[in-house]
Amino acid sequence: MAKRPKSGRCVHCLQNVEDLTRDHIFPFAWYPDNTPENLQRWTIPSCKTCNEQYGKLEEDLLLRLGMCIDPENANSSGITDKVLRSIDPDYANDRTEKRIRERKKEKIKKEIVKWEAIPPIGLHPNFGVQSNVYYPEYPSIPISADKLERLCHKIVRGITYFVDQTFIENNFEIQFFTLDDKAAQPLLKKYQQYCEPYDRPGIKVVRAMTSDNPDAGFYAIEIWGRLKMYAVVKPKELSC
Ligand SMILES: [Zn+2]
Repeated sequence: MAKRPKSGRCVHCLQNVEDLTRDHIFPFAWYPDNTPENLQRWTIPSCKTCNEQYGKLEEDLLLRLGMCIDPENANSSGITDKVLRSIDPDYANDRTEKRIRERKKEKIKKEIVKWEAIPPIGLHPNFGVQSNVYYPEYPSIPISADKLERLCHKIVRGITYFVDQTFIENNFEIQFFTLDDKAAQPLLKKYQQYCEPYDRPGIKVVRAMTSDNPDAGFYAIEIWGRLKMYAVVKPKELSC
């Protein structure tokens, strides 16, 4: 018998809806292939619209990010293979899917820019070249900063709900930022005593709720040991 849809509030847009879905905080396809089958993955209530919009955003980001990571790294085991298969026409089940994959592959190939030297700007911190790899040239792929920011918001809202069963209301704002490891150290040190870690295969989130302002939170997100993002949640009227 089909389950009756559950009504309630969407963690992302905060609307009350009649037919809530379950959305993965860390996208299902982003878990490495060494994730135990029976592991409880983080999910949160989401309206269908937000769930679908994030699904598209995550698919696009995964394709681009997956092409930049080390296929041998256990933190992201199987991700690069999966991404390359998703645009490989030879893995299609029928002719329609084959054409879709061919188009996707051509589109992404056209977006690749090759540099003779590391470009001076535009690299996501810690997501540039890998130190253990020899590069005769530097191929790069554009990744939408807006989409990364939206992914960060989603994870922050998701972890907050998962841990506290609360929503980040509209009188709060989420400020997304990126830092290289050196610049992040003082912040991580500052919040160290308040930090609570949450992790799953492929993702680590550290959250610090400071005692001087229990409504304000600091979040450090690390995906596959490579992609690092930071956020501060605070009431809108508070200046930083
Ligand atoms: Zn929603």
